[in-house]
Amino acid sequence: AAKDAGRGVYRFYADAMHNQASERKAIEDALRDALAKEELKLLYQPIVDIARERITGFEALIRWQRGDGEAVSPSKFIPIAEESNLIVPIGEWIIRTACDTIAQLGPGYRVAVNVSPRQFANDRLPATLMSALSASGIAPAQLELEITEGVFLDESPENLEMFQRLKRTGVRLALDDFGTGYSALGYLKKAPFDKIKIDQSFVLGAADKNSMNAAIISSIVGLASALRMETTAEGVETHDDLALVRRLGCSHVQGYIYGKPMDRDEMLALLRGSDGQVVAQGYQSAR
Ligand code: C2E
Ligand code: MG
Ligand code: MG
Ligand code: MG
Repeated sequence: AAKDAGRGVYRFYADAMHNQASERKAIEDALRDALAKEELKLLYQPIVDIARERITGFEALIRWQRGDGEAVSPSKFIPIAEESNLIVPIGEWIIRTACDTIAQLGPGYRVAVNVSPRQFANDRLPATLMSALSASGIAPAQLELEITEGVFLDESPENLEMFQRLKRTGVRLALDDFGTGYSALGYLKKAPFDKIKIDQSFVLGAADKNSMNAAIISSIVGLASALRMETTAEGVETHDDLALVRRLGCSHVQGYIYGKPMDRDEMLALLRGSDGQVVAQGYQSAR
């Protein structure tokens, strides 16, 4: 009987793994057509200079609404796009679309795009950037690339070389999700980052009593300022969070307190109505 039960468990896992693999394959196939079917779009979330309470730019965040109406989260499909290399054409579309948006915003604003590890490793990335920059006519420093710490898993000379090639195109570089990966501090010194984005896992609830997060944020800010980099605190939802990251010296904030990701028209309307000046809205956190 024990043997039968064991076989049943095995069957259960085998089926679950098979289902997972075929779900991935189905997502990959649908994603292959998503660009052509115009099912992908970018939303834009404000990034605010804390001291001046002004929007200095936006982060472009991808959304996929499938033909059947189902919305697929980027945390689900970006890893599949990565493994299948579909991230390369999708990433090129993201860069071109973001550059067009920047041209519409005018010279006072930046847009940041997320660059995943496979995109970063692609030899054609600098050429893609240069062609998108010149087609849109924007200043290169208006475009910022957010690179996640995961890229550092491989501390190769190739990576350092790519950072230098990207920097030479004139775009800005931000280190995303800082604190969640293997922080290679020596490497951070060598790579030409303009900004560190403090992961929201350190920010959400940082103002709560007994949280270690304030100490972590404070040391990241100290490190960034020694390296002459800006810091953006991600995931700021409440007035308490905002007061804390301001006191700890973060230069920028991004979070629901100033705005959720919005579509291009909403973004343009927001700027028309406010000229970039913003007021923190008491976001009622679900935490
Ligand atoms: P990320 O780059 O760290 O983006 C920040 C995420 O935090 C976004 O989730 C954003 O909507 C969310 N967020 C911002 N403020 C708040 C807040 O106050 N509270 C809470 N609870 N969440 C907040 P999203 O849009 O679901 O994206 C998730 C991740 O997917 C991104 O993390 C990024 O790693 C990836 N991703 C999104 N768009 C792209 C893209 O165009 N290309 C690539 N390669 N990856 C992308
Ligand atoms: Mg990001
Ligand atoms: Mg981030
Ligand atoms: Mg993050």
